[in-house]
Amino acid sequence: MSTAADGSPAPTLRAALDAVPAYIPGKPASAPEGVTAYKLSSNENPFPPLDAVRVVLDKTLDVVNRYPDMASVDLVAAIAAFVGCDPANIAVGTGSVGILGQIVQATCDAGDEIVFAWRSFEAYPIVAALADARAVMVPVDAGQRHQLGLMADAVTERTRVIIVCSPNNPTGTVVHRDELEEFLARVPRSVLVVLDEAYLEFVRDVDAPDAMAVWRAHPNVMVLRTFSKAYGLAGLRVGYAVAHAPVAAALRKCAVPFGINTLAQVAAVASLEARDQLMVRVDSIVAERSRVVAGLAEQGWKLAPSEANFVWFPLGADSGPFAAACEAAGLMVRRYGDDGVRVTIGEPEANTRFLQVCRAFAPR
Ligand SMILES: *Cc1c(COP(=O)(O)O)cnc(C)c1O
Repeated sequence: MSTAADGSPAPTLRAALDAVPAYIPGKPASAPEGVTAYKLSSNENPFPPLDAVRVVLDKTLDVVNRYPDMASVDLVAAIAAFVGCDPANIAVGTGSVGILGQIVQATCDAGDEIVFAWRSFEAYPIVAALADARAVMVPVDAGQRHQLGLMADAVTERTRVIIVCSPNNPTGTVVHRDELEEFLARVPRSVLVVLDEAYLEFVRDVDAPDAMAVWRAHPNVMVLRTFSKAYGLAGLRVGYAVAHAPVAAALRKCAVPFGINTLAQVAAVASLEARDQLMVRVDSIVAERSRVVAGLAEQGWKLAPSEANFVWFPLGADSGPFAAACEAAGLMVRRYGDDGVRVTIGEPEANTRFLQVCRAFAPR
């Protein structure tokens, strides 16, 4: 029997929950008097919703007394048409974090193993721990890249899932087509390989893989994408998986019923329809990334190339002072203990101010 703080009997909770790390959300914007604060801590899109999205959201408010379409039929059809596959290959979820939970539920019993790089996305150890699965974390190399060879070496009889995050959050690097194929040739067919492409739209590296082609060629590969970053719908919670039919069906079984609300469904459909307009915005974020990266190089920084909407500073013990200097300038950034600091590419004014803060910390 469990006991409460005062010693009285309390409901018994799963011991596995003691091992679940807390998700640390990006800090909200705050700044000294008279200074505009910017939130560069959650890799969000700095642009407000498109007019086309506002219009459908406004219209849809009239029906929020009704349940959403449980199967998200229109959204699934729109995604299938966009990526060029059968609707049976699509599963949608409450953000790709929601789908990650479904993946683990669909594949892992207690003690099974999930392999991923580290550092990588902080949701991975959380979803693993919730299932009492073992997180097998393979360090990124000195260039902040996945070590796919070591990740393949880490496979055991208990391995159920390997997550490849490309571009990797928070380090910004991508895996390349040839190394990914070499890796997949070594991974047993019984292990599900998840290609997490949350930042796909920001990639300009021509050696990055075409995940849809990789998915088609490998029965144990699936692709995970989101409307939260390039599409600017982080607050509505919608993402999708492209998977072979048995996996997609299993993911649908593990979904929370009616999880994807009506507003999220219509906004995602409208965003796919307005994709050209959104990609113009993505181009402008990529242009800002180039400006920031060039400015940092000029200051003497030698950082791993970023293919995402953020830049990674592996600063070790300087992480704390660097993050504090950013915050004193009204720029909220994401510090990862004494590993480093991740800074999202934001509004041009925020990026310019960020470059000014960086100058004082530039390596000499
Ligand atoms: C932001 C992010 C996601 C997307 O999360 P949502 O739940 O869709 O908002 C997925 N994977 C990675 C690596 C991310 O950084």
